[in-house]
Amino acid sequence: MKNDALNYNNIPFQALFSEEMIFSRVKELGLQIANDYQGKNPVFVCVLRGGIYFFSDLTKAVPILVELDFIQARSYLGTESTGNVELIKDLDSDIEGRDVLIVEDIVDTGRTLKFLISHILSKKPKSLEVASLLFKEGGEEDVGYPIKYIGWNIGKEFVIGYGLDYDGKFRNLPGVFLYSEE
Ligand code: 5GP
Repeated sequence: MKNDALNYNNIPFQALFSEEMIFSRVKELGLQIANDYQGKNPVFVCVLRGGIYFFSDLTKAVPILVELDFIQARSYLGTESTGNVELIKDLDSDIEGRDVLIVEDIVDTGRTLKFLISHILSKKPKSLEVASLLFKEGGEEDVGYPIKYIGWNIGKEFVIGYGLDYDGKFRNLPGVFLYSEE
């Protein structure tokens, strides 16, 4: 696949979730979340970088007062089997005693999320919930924490777009696509 073949009207990947599908699912999740946090002033935490579009759309779809913060972690290179994760960027705000919602792009093995949950819980929030646009089958066991808001459950395929990359590319595709080596 050549980069210059990438064209929003002619994307050479199979679409899994279109922009329209994502828009309407994010609206639904937003209303559900707004309902659950009625009268509260939660902190929504964007997991960089994959979560940017979901975070951006979801926070606008939640008609309550929210505060925004950002966190970033990555798996140690070459240690997939041990699953070590390191923090690259911590939260800027003090979340002690606050209602916190982590906003993730995708949960695969769940290792990244498990790490982030334990890190954030150590800061003593009043409550902690998770929203993930996508959830790959088999992940929840590894997370060991309920994921309250899920856009869609998917199979084990590798997906790109709407924040998700392959080798740093394709994040800005407007929908979610199945990646294939064409
Ligand atoms: P986990 O720690 O749950 O195995 O994976 C966490 C991270 O791996 C995700 O936040 C995401 O950055 C990346 N990842 C997992 N599955 C996929 C996928 O299908 N596509 C892309 N682009 N990234 C993925």
